[in-house]
Order: sequence, then C-alpha cells, then structure tokens
Amino acid sequence: FSEKEIQKIRNQFPILKEKIYSNPLIYMDNAATTQKPLKVIQATQNYYSTMNSNIHRGLHYLSHKATLYVENVREKIKNFIHAKYSSEIIFTKGTTESINLVASSIDSFIKKGDEIIISCIEHHSNIVPWQVLCKKRGAILKIISIHENGFLKLKDFELFISEKTKIVSICHISNVLGIINPIKNIIKKAHEYGALVLIDGAQAPSNLNLDVQELNVDFYVFSAHKMYGPTGIGMLYGKKKILEKLYPYQFGGEMIKNVSFDKTTYSDLPFKFEAGTPNIEGIIVWGSAIDFVKEIGISNIQSYKKKLLIYAVKCLSSIDGIQLYGDNIDFSKKSGIISFNLYKLHCFDVGSILDRLGIAVRTGHLCAQPLMNFFKVSGMIRISFSIYNTFKEIDYLSESILKTKKILLKQ
Ligand code: PMP
Repeated sequence: FSEKEIQKIRNQFPILKEKIYSNPLIYMDNAATTQKPLKVIQATQNYYSTMNSNIHRGLHYLSHKATLYVENVREKIKNFIHAKYSSEIIFTKGTTESINLVASSIDSFIKKGDEIIISCIEHHSNIVPWQVLCKKRGAILKIISIHENGFLKLKDFELFISEKTKIVSICHISNVLGIINPIKNIIKKAHEYGALVLIDGAQAPSNLNLDVQELNVDFYVFSAHKMYGPTGIGMLYGKKKILEKLYPYQFGGEMIKNVSFDKTTYSDLPFKFEAGTPNIEGIIVWGSAIDFVKEIGISNIQSYKKKLLIYAVKCLSSIDGIQLYGDNIDFSKKSGIISFNLYKLHCFDVGSILDRLGIAVRTGHLCAQPLMNFFKVSGMIRISFSIYNTFKEIDYLSESILKTKKILLKQ
C-alpha cells in the first residue's frame, strides 16, 4: 500500500482522529482488539434503525429480516474460513466461550488417564478450561515447551502424542510472540493417533487466509473484535460429524426440538449449541467487518503488516537495553506482534509513559502467565499492528521509547 492508500483506510476509522493527552492517538494494541471502521459503526446504527427484532421464532417481517441477516453472516463466515456447511458455524460470545463450549461438551468422552496436550505459549483461555476438565475427569494435561526463540518444541509434541491423547489444543498465532505455529503438521500427526484438534485462532483471521477443510482441523475458534468487528461475538467451527456427537453446552430456548416434563429433545446443528437469544446485533455487524476485511484482502493486510513488523523489529533492535522476545525467527513464521522489555524497568512504567505520549500498547502478563514464567519476567510490553498503522508511527514509537528510557533511567 502507498502512504496515500493507507491514509484512505485510516480515514475510515474515526477514532484515529482522537487526541490522547494532546497527542495524536497511535493505536498499537490491536492484538487485544482492533478499532472499528465506519462500515461497522454504521451497520450497528442500521441494525437498530431498520431491523431490531428477535430472530428465528418470529413470524413477522422484522423478525424474518433479522433472521435472514443473521443466517447470511453464518454463510459469510462459512465462506471466509472455507467450511463445508454453514451449520458447522456456531455463534458464541468469542474465542473464550468457544473453547469452554468444546471443553464442556466433550466432557463425557474424557476418562481417567486420558491425555490433553496444550503448549506453554497458550492464552489463559486455552489453558484453564482444559485444566478444569482434566481435574474433573482425572485426565492428564501435557504441556509442549518452547525453544528460547519461542518456537514450539515439536519434539515434546512427538513424545507426548499417543493413543491416550484425546485432544490437542494449540494457538494458531501466539498473542505474545506473534509466532505462527505449524498447525497443519500438528493436526496431521494428532489424527494419526485418533486425537481431536482445536486451534485457537484468536489472532489469525485478520492475518491469514483460513481454510479449515484444507487444515482438516476438528475445531477452530475466534472472536469478531480482533478483526474489526464488535465485541461479545465470535464463533466455533466444528466438523459436523463431531459436533453432532457432542452434548449441548447450555440449555433453554432455541436449542430444543420438543420439551415435555418427561423428555426434551434437542435441535439440529447449529442451534443445538445456541441456547437463548444470541447477540443478534453483534452477528449482523460482524458481517460488515468481514466485508471490510475482504475488500482490502487478507493477503494485502498480511503483506503490509509484515513490512511494518520487519521495519519495527529493525528499529527496536537498535535501541540499547531492549529485549525482544520470540524475535530470532524467520519473518515468514511471525505476524505483526512484538513483545519486549526495556532494561529491568517495570513494563507498567514504560507503558504509562508511552500512553502519556499517545501510544496505546499492552503491558503485563498478556494473559499468558506460564509464558512469562518461561522467560522469567512478570510482564512484557506488547505492540501489535493493524492495517491502519504506519511506518511514521513506528518512528514515533522508537523516539518515544528513547524518551521513556531517559525519563525512567534519569539519564
Ligand atoms: N486466545 C488468544 C491467542 C488471544 O489472543 C485471545 C485474546 N487476547 C483469546 C484467546 C481470548 O479471546 P476473547 O477474549 O475474545 O475471548
């Protein structure tokens, strides 16, 4: 993209005109949530102005309209991730709920002594649900470790995988290191032993072209809000044959076929997993976010963010006292996320000064405490890019880190 093209994209994000303590906003916390383009903001208003209504159950015009829009988004997501059937797309609150749904619904298939494999770079939402399940069923949680550069120790995985493995649950892209895991090989190997694989794709949909059939993955999960969509909505993709076998996650309206006091039967997919009134607004608005991503093109977003990443790594590496994590790695295996520390300064101190200078970064354990323990730190500073970030912003970030250093080290 030329500077002019990026400016045109930036103009679609009203929040980027905000001033933070009189400085222009430089938003580099995109791995936490991305900003929303006008298309998405306007879609919210349009939903409430023209079709607000409860879906599926209604006979009337508005209910029918909202239902059509919701089901149209399900179809859009199916196409976006190249699933086979739209009934394989289950709407949830987001990545976290999707993982909890699988961990809870699969419960009765897990026996004492079974094994579940995750890795030490996982977000807490891909650790705790499995930990709880293992505790409940007497199963064993096996943790793949990493090399110093943050790359998964695939030897660990090969050592752990066996007929006892029931589930392997790994992130596609690490939210701390930005490393893209070799999930295709992991899925293939896990299937040789009859294990199911869940991929936590929270960081992937605005970075990589996704093809769940090509990956042959059993479950794939992500949230709308990290791909320019609203918060409180996300999805679980699951292979139809597997989802059909799983027990419902929550119970109530919408997910039943027939209710009597003797017996209740459940709806077919996807409704069996969608109890209660869903986030109708969120689903419909998410459709506009997908349109936005598709108009720019994932490959274009990906290659622009890669350029930002390479430039930022070059700039940051030249700063004395900066420690980058997961950087000694081929750029083709990394997305636009960089985590670092500055000397032994506390990440909150660094983050607070950057904030005063208008730069939004994330600081702390980044919901990945086991990974912090691996690197023997209590927290890190994370910058993460989106399509609206610029090379100039990276220059300003570098200058601001130098300023921060001066202030905190009283140089
Ligand atoms: N997994 C990863 C890798 C993430 O980056 C995140 C969000 N930071 C989550 C899971 C949880 O996503 P959500 O909060 O949208 O449920």
